[in-house]
Amino acid sequence: MKIGILSRNRRLYSTSQLIVAAEKRGHDVRVINPLRCYMNIAAFKPSIHYDGKTLTDFDAIIPRVGASITFYGTAVVRQFEMMGVYSLNESVAISRSRDKLRSMQLLSRQGIGLPVTGFANSPADTEDLLDLVGGAPVVVKLLEGTQGKGVVLAETRKAAESVVEAFRGLDANFLVQEFVKEAGGADIRCLVVGSKVVAAMKRQAQEGEFRSNLHRGGSAKLIKITPEERSTATRAAKIMGLNVAGVDLLRSNHGPVVLEVNSSPGLEGIEEATGKDVAGMIIEHIEKHAKSGRTGTRGKG
Ligand code: ADP
Ligand code: MG
Repeated sequence: MKIGILSRNRRLYSTSQLIVAAEKRGHDVRVINPLRCYMNIAAFKPSIHYDGKTLTDFDAIIPRVGASITFYGTAVVRQFEMMGVYSLNESVAISRSRDKLRSMQLLSRQGIGLPVTGFANSPADTEDLLDLVGGAPVVVKLLEGTQGKGVVLAETRKAAESVVEAFRGLDANFLVQEFVKEAGGADIRCLVVGSKVVAAMKRQAQEGEFRSNLHRGGSAKLIKITPEERSTATRAAKIMGLNVAGVDLLRSNHGPVVLEVNSSPGLEGIEEATGKDVAGMIIEHIEKHAKSGRTGTRGKG
């Protein structure tokens, strides 16, 4: 098969693992920088151009679209879909997963366990909003933050009010969430491929820190998850419409709760912690499912 990896840098761990895994299985792999793709939005003839050439004959693409280029990156994925190329994760699903509030609304509708979460627009409602999620301590989160940036723990009501006020002053969108203290600064990353959790790790925050992101100094190790956690993770990925996803869970005293669903999960931490060949499993999934025109939405919506 001819597989395109949409990634800005072939030397990134996840990208290079996917290249190796695909080549090992005899595929022709190209790394395509989505920011260098340009498109012709012509009637009935969608095409993509790259460095003076037209990109043709791809059987599948693997979007590795970073959060900072979601808008342009998903437009490129959508263009491939309109050309009938199978995308490992579809553009609509990627856009959906990038908005934390939208994701939580969709997950809650299907009864997925979530931390108690509130969202409001008017400063007049701050007091009520804090009560709604059970009062301090609360976590205040920017809707489009990643890697733990923009996630703040407000331990007292006064601190929570100040953070809410500061975010409002910056015109930022945020949500307010129950602080799941019993998680003890740990979360669980479940790597879902297709309808299975193929690897899971526990990430533990550094001493004195509640965010377990590896970018914030957290450490990762292999963990055995419960059947309930397993089904929560696979259902969450399915609801988001993602074939490959990193589903983050907290162990709360009301069961597993989903924090977020990532559409371009990093492979380095999880492969290292679990010893699993996740990149290989992703390529196998593509081999089984990539058929021209198999993209569900073909770029609609
Ligand atoms: P990001 O997209 O920046 O990674 P997350 O929502 O995943 O944002 O939050 C980052 C980390 O902060 C999580 O991995 C978790 O360790 C911690 N965290 C986030 N929300 C809560 C919460 N409500 N209760 C306890 N810990 C939380
Ligand atoms: Mg996270």
